[in-house]
Amino acid sequence: MKMTGKTATILLFVSLAVLPLFATGSYAITETERGSSPTPLDIFHENTSHISSAQKGSKTRTRSILPKVIYLTFDDGPSKGTANVLSVLKEEGVEGTMFFIGRNIEYQRSLYAQALSMPNLLIANHTYSHANGKYARFYSSAATVVNDMDRAQRIIGGAKYLRLAGRNVWRLPSLYRNDYALSKTRRKTESPKYTALSDRGYQIYGWDIEWHFDHATGNASYGADRMADRIETLYESKHLAKEGKIVLLTHDYMFRKEGGRQKLRELIQILKASGWRFETLGSYGSSTPAVFVQKKKRLRKKVIRLAMNKRDPVRKQRNKRKRLLLLR
Ligand SMILES: [Zn+2]
Repeated sequence: MKMTGKTATILLFVSLAVLPLFATGSYAITETERGSSPTPLDIFHENTSHISSAQKGSKTRTRSILPKVIYLTFDDGPSKGTANVLSVLKEEGVEGTMFFIGRNIEYQRSLYAQALSMPNLLIANHTYSHANGKYARFYSSAATVVNDMDRAQRIIGGAKYLRLAGRNVWRLPSLYRNDYALSKTRRKTESPKYTALSDRGYQIYGWDIEWHFDHATGNASYGADRMADRIETLYESKHLAKEGKIVLLTHDYMFRKEGGRQKLRELIQILKASGWRFETLGSYGSSTPAVFVQKKKRLRKKVIRLAMNKRDPVRKQRNKRKRLLLLR
């Protein structure tokens, strides 16, 4: 088609009119992107080398921005390994939770005092008697269980943080879980006893993963590298009591020798290098998981978007007027 001078002029005007609209459109897109520009949590995400590329998909994005928090817990002290545990935690400057047995405290007063003097530790209740190793009988009586915990609590004092002897049970305001290693019948028998404790104000903490030890030698069954790998695998699997948080069970006794002490230090250093943050169980139940923070942020953005959409007809009308003025 032959283009007349008039047609060319009209086309020129139309181009001039439409181009700014495209420009406006592209600016609007930029603004939208700016709206979702890196939040402090996203920045955390970008800076954390431990996050795999697979995690960066949109579905796992919310999860990948969670800070990785590890709760080191040490059971059955004060015992022969406690002094080494305390020194490693002090030297590495990390937090940890010591689940002490009331009866052991009576025999190890100086170790107990040393632990109490460390600000990065939470000293918690791990029964008075450790059920004397006879768990089934112990957990058959609510009175026995409650009296034993109360006796230890009178020695330990403070907030009622508790770990049961021989049972991976959770009773927190936000978490209720029995030990699934037990038979269904046993769980049914024991569950009311755990609940009797939570009714008395005890917060019961289980664990997500254990650093196993050889029961013949009392030493760790494997090294820090393997333990760290197991922690990372568990973190990826999402099979955690709380998302982004891992409670690691260990026993003081495993670290009583120099080799054990080194293993503990090594594990802490590997975890530090992989971006893990160390906290005591004092912050486990109370802190709001980051995933909820993120959801709230998304909701706020959605509300803003809706408000902008409402303004859209006005904007459209204004643009239309501009366009007509240009075409005139
Ligand atoms: Zn124990």
